[in-house]
Amino acid sequence: MARYQLSPHKIDYIFISHLHGDHYLGLMPLLFSMHLHKRKNDLHLYSPTGLDEIITLQLKHSKSVLNYKIIFHPFVPQKSELLFEDEAIIIESIPLIHKLACAGFLFREKQKPRRIVKEKLIEGMKLQQLVTLKAGADILDEDGEIIYKNEDFTKSPRASLSYAYCSDTAWNPSMIDQIKAVDLLYHEATFLHADLQKAEETKHSTASQAGEIAKLADVKKLLIGHFSARYKNLEDLLQEAKASFSNTELAIEGATFTLED
Ligand SMILES: [Zn+2]
Ligand SMILES: [Zn+2]
Repeated sequence: MARYQLSPHKIDYIFISHLHGDHYLGLMPLLFSMHLHKRKNDLHLYSPTGLDEIITLQLKHSKSVLNYKIIFHPFVPQKSELLFEDEAIIIESIPLIHKLACAGFLFREKQKPRRIVKEKLIEGMKLQQLVTLKAGADILDEDGEIIYKNEDFTKSPRASLSYAYCSDTAWNPSMIDQIKAVDLLYHEATFLHADLQKAEETKHSTASQAGEIAKLADVKKLLIGHFSARYKNLEDLLQEAKASFSNTELAIEGATFTLED
């Protein structure tokens, strides 16, 4: 995060899929670094049951008291659960198939307000009227007659985007309904399909399976990652996923991806 100039202060919510070390061992240094940077805001941690115990124990035995509060949200990944909701976004867990209890996460933006077309505004319109127009209603007078028609002053809202994070998991078509048509799917692709047996033993997916899930779920874009260190050439994994789903890219550290609106 330091390398990419991302401030840890901006993070208030962290979602951990499961308790294999490669998915949470970086958390403790991050929590301490937030402490050293004088964080004050609450931090919300979502994870399968157990992370609360691990962190509490480490703090206890190092006699550390953080200067901010951690709010744990343990959950059971076996069934999909609503984890978070506010006026803008809704977040649910996605049950995955792995050696440990493991969940993916689905982030969906809610319907956004209509957009005011500035050039169409008439002098003297009140702020409250603009709020009403953004909410999609007409402006009425006391008798309920229309003064300003919504469609004359607004255009459709920006698209509501969605992102599904699915790692780690074995071949798991049961997630397809839940992640249908998301704008972006991150799916693990630990192995090449030639190593399918290894994937099945360790409950991971092959690049070809990741592509197949993306195709069946009709998503807009696929990112693959979580590659086994045995592969020196990631291009092979990319090509394999692309054979099923062409709009695929490698999730390389530091890369950024922009979703279309
Ligand atoms: Zn794992
Ligand atoms: Zn992993």
